[in-house]
Amino acid sequence: MMSTPPPPISEPDPSALTCPGDRVGLCSGCQRKTHKYGSGGCPLCQWCMAPVQEKWGPGVGYTSTRG
Ligand SMILES: [Zn+2]
Repeated sequence: MMSTPPPPISEPDPSALTCPGDRVGLCSGCQRKTHKYGSGGCPLCQWCMAPVQEKWGPGVGYTSTRG
């Protein structure tokens, strides 16, 4: 799962290709286009999200916890 390096940032995240255009935004990490807004959106593309999920677990980005 970690064996594939991310493509150049000129390549959008696959999620950006399958969501409505008005939900596309730039990844907070690498600035590539990704499904950022609305239901199922995420501020990070899948390549930036992968190490974060590994550290924090699934669901990060969808809920915020206090503390
Ligand atoms: Zn990214």
